[in-house]
Amino acid sequence: MHELKIAEDLSAIVLDTASGNNLSRVTKVSIIFGELVQIVPDIFEFAFRETVRSSIAEGAELDIEITPVKMKCKNCGNIFQPKENLFACNSCSSADLEIIQGKELFIKSIEGE
Ligand SMILES: [Zn+2]
Repeated sequence: MHELKIAEDLSAIVLDTASGNNLSRVTKVSIIFGELVQIVPDIFEFAFRETVRSSIAEGAELDIEITPVKMKCKNCGNIFQPKENLFACNSCSSADLEIIQGKELFIKSIEGE
């Protein structure tokens, strides 16, 4: 369950940022996860709620956005979304690929007052 570790890391950033901006309450946190991070949103949300309990981020709305995997073929330059676990270029079938999106894990925005 890596959601708990990620939730702990992200909630620490949220609380740091909030205190750095003199917020007395965090109302909304938007988080971007790449598909390859393989987060289960419900588990993450549960873990996040636990880690921010009794803090100024308790009760904040959580917005989780999952970005799809995108790959670039090093052979022909084609950019595509792989289907399932079929990691081959859909144009030239090359397996020489580079992941250009899908491994992200960051906080997009923090709202508060
Ligand atoms: Zn290709």
